Amino acid sequence: MHETHRRRTRILATLGPATDELETLAALVAAGVDAVRINYSHGNHADHARRIRQVREAATAAGRDIGILADLQGPKIRIERFAEGPITLVPGARFALDTAHPAAAGTVEIVGCAYPDLPNDVVAGDALMLNDGAIRLRVTQVAGTRIDTEVEIGGELSDRKGINKAGGGLSAAALTERDHDDLAHAAAQGVDFVAVSFPRNGEDMREARRLLDAAGSSAALVAKIERAEALLALDSIIEASDAVMIARGDLGVEIGDAELPGWQKRITRAAREDNRLVITATQMMESMITSPIPTRAEVLDVANAVMDGTDAVMLSAETATGRHPPRVVEAMARVCLGAEAAMPEPRGRDRMDSHFVRTDEAIAMATIWTAQHMHAQAIVALTESGSTALMMSRSDTRIPIFALTQLEATRRRMTLCRGVYPIAFTPSELDSARPAQEATDMLLAHGWLQRGDRALLTKGDFTGPGGTNTMKIVTVDG
Ligand code: PGA
Ligand code: MN
Repeated sequence: MHETHRRRTRILATLGPATDELETLAALVAAGVDAVRINYSHGNHADHARRIRQVREAATAAGRDIGILADLQGPKIRIERFAEGPITLVPGARFALDTAHPAAAGTVEIVGCAYPDLPNDVVAGDALMLNDGAIRLRVTQVAGTRIDTEVEIGGELSDRKGINKAGGGLSAAALTERDHDDLAHAAAQGVDFVAVSFPRNGEDMREARRLLDAAGSSAALVAKIERAEALLALDSIIEASDAVMIARGDLGVEIGDAELPGWQKRITRAAREDNRLVITATQMMESMITSPIPTRAEVLDVANAVMDGTDAVMLSAETATGRHPPRVVEAMARVCLGAEAAMPEPRGRDRMDSHFVRTDEAIAMATIWTAQHMHAQAIVALTESGSTALMMSRSDTRIPIFALTQLEATRRRMTLCRGVYPIAFTPSELDSARPAQEATDMLLAHGWLQRGDRALLTKGDFTGPGGTNTMKIVTVDG
């Protein structure tokens, strides 16, 4: 038995003002962060570039690969600003949104909105949700640039809060002019993941892919599922992406909280079946923005996402602006480990009825099956693109998958992949039995394998992505 169970679920932490000290960032990495999110909705390009530089520094200092995800703002629709600070809306009051109202001149009766199509996208009777659903307005009349509403659920409202329409139906395209700029910046910074906010369909994702290609970036593409329309086009969005994020904040506002649990499970399953990654996001440890410990409900939420098969769990304000970022990561890591340990032993029957076209997929599935049924201690994938490791990780298994590659970009793209441990490895020669021996020697030297362990190894006879064609069973001798 190995000393400690190694956490399989990945932790993605959003950076922000609360993580700007290099020391804090180092503490986050030590606490178990696998990848970080740079939120392009806040801050400017200089902030993003500085944070990216700091992450690289912290990763190098820790001798680890830390993935970087750039999250584009997308067509998040927001109110403008108030002339005299936050206002309070009371139920029954009249309140208007006007796309022609001066930006800084909001009052308790009217506020501006920078999205000119809003009056075309709503009709009398629609419900508009502000501030993540905390405030509900019922549209009474639309005339020209002005939308009159009656306040149904009131509360405090401050500058630039988001607007959603219950049931979906806001027409804005996913990639705004600003997103084009931000995507080019992220590509130039060499980020590993780019997340598209509010995609409506697969075409929005294909457009993002074309922009990334044109910018020379091979970043993995993440689709944030956060509007009602995206659920209707889920299969085509998954097909056009490398990963999906269950963006429960906006999604919950649009479809209503009662629909959220069912969709979280469906999206998780659909993504994994298509060999895609899945990230579960928003309010996972919300109370820890201020509190030193999570609520029981938060513990159970994180654990349930893990048990449903998410690759990664995400922290937003908990780390970006929270009071104790490293402590949140520690709590999340602890809960993930506990949930993994409580999961039933997998049966090793994944995809038994599937027909495989690709050689590497057939090898991946044969390897997983054999490893499960031999009770092997490890799987070692000598990989270039990471695709073999990814496919094996789509199976429900407790066996660690060590993905060995000399390509840093591949290693960093695997930092959000559940159960896969990216490790730098350069074999002295490629087309012989030596790489297998060198790989297990290296894992043994680091204590990742022990003498007598049985390991399954995958590799290709020749170099090149997707070239895996061999499965090998070895007993670690050293
Ligand atoms: P956001 O996306 O944090 O960028 O809004 C996540 C969500 O909507 O849940
Ligand atoms: Mn969102």
